[in-house]
Amino acid sequence: MVRKYEIIGLDARQVFDSRGNPTIECTVNVGKGAGSARVPSGASTGKHEAIELRDGGKEYNGKGVSKAIANINKIIAPQLIGMDVRGQEEIDKILIELDGTPNKSRLGANATTAVSLACCRAAANAKQIGLYHHIGSISHEWEFKVPVPFFNIINGGVHSGSKLAVQEFMLAPKTKSFAKAMEVGVEVYHELGEMLKKKYGKSATNVGDEGGFAPPISKTEEAIKLILKAVKASGHEDEAYLSLDVAASEIFKKGKYHIDGKALSADGLLKFYEKLIQNYPIMNIEDPFYEEDFKEFAKMTDAMDIQVTGDDIFVTNVERIKHGIQVRACNALLLKVNQIGTLTEAIQAAKMAQQSDYRIMVSHRSGETSDPFIADLAVGIGAEQIKSGAPCRSERLAKYNRLLEIEREGVSYVGWFQ
Ligand code: PEP
Ligand code: MG
Repeated sequence: MVRKYEIIGLDARQVFDSRGNPTIECTVNVGKGAGSARVPSGASTGKHEAIELRDGGKEYNGKGVSKAIANINKIIAPQLIGMDVRGQEEIDKILIELDGTPNKSRLGANATTAVSLACCRAAANAKQIGLYHHIGSISHEWEFKVPVPFFNIINGGVHSGSKLAVQEFMLAPKTKSFAKAMEVGVEVYHELGEMLKKKYGKSATNVGDEGGFAPPISKTEEAIKLILKAVKASGHEDEAYLSLDVAASEIFKKGKYHIDGKALSADGLLKFYEKLIQNYPIMNIEDPFYEEDFKEFAKMTDAMDIQVTGDDIFVTNVERIKHGIQVRACNALLLKVNQIGTLTEAIQAAKMAQQSDYRIMVSHRSGETSDPFIADLAVGIGAEQIKSGAPCRSERLAKYNRLLEIEREGVSYVGWFQ
């Protein structure tokens, strides 16, 4: 007889992400129920991220995922069938061992992420509890809180055709509820759209990969001033902080950072940040330096009284986070499951960072799907923050809308915590 939580089959297939690139959807069938997950994909990927397996060749510009899908259906499935789907750690251990490389390059982190997340959802469905409740049981987190949303309302860098060097200009509302944070985010976003239309014409409201506007401007301060003007005009003055993701590895060429028409040394860039922080309500800067420069990250974390978040520098990898903690680089971790390839490893990364009082910001990828998994993940691991792009485009809103639902279920809001 088949048991309720027994894995009876896996089915992986090709679907498409928000940039129209192939990605994987995986369904895990268990004795009583099933669960599916879809995998996102980055553009400004860190050098040390786990490998996303792509087919190469001509089809889909080399971005096909048929090999990764075959790895799930032919190599992974036979090993997982018969296992208890509630055993996330055991399942992920098998994925890691089956792959056998330090960076998931054999099976593909896209394959392992799809299976890992689908198993988690299948377990929650079979247990008939909310996904975040089940994730809480894995991460031993019982005090659920809805995280603060960081809305990426102007897109630059490799996420848009704008000339802005900084990749993300985010708005972090200071409100007492998540629903109110949505109101602030949405109203500022629309006000900004109107302002851009008046100033630069309708095409200035075209959006980038994460749903933020991509106006024809090239200077960091110009974008900041526009956002602050929209904050004021929409009646939300003092109700939001700003946050930047510089994604500095993307602007680091031959030892210099190329930003705002200048080529700056690390010291020059630090001074540039110092001035910005003095003049504007910026509470967080993500990836202010390129991914190998732990020393400069540490200098900034020590010198400035703001949140310094590590994305490409840490790539959700416990070894790199451990080193960061030792040298005091950053005080917050950006968490992306597909950077490491299994849910268990991502939770271990979060736990390690939390034990050293790092904040956690759970993150989407610039290439997304409508899967809202990260909303439940953020709640289930006790993350204080989440970024899922602008309040625009359904793949971005899927996560925010799920958090609205979780707040309505009675989970309280982190609120502002400084
Ligand atoms: C990021 O850099 O934080 C990000 C979400 O972008 P990508 O998914 O392109 O790495
Ligand atoms: Mg980033």
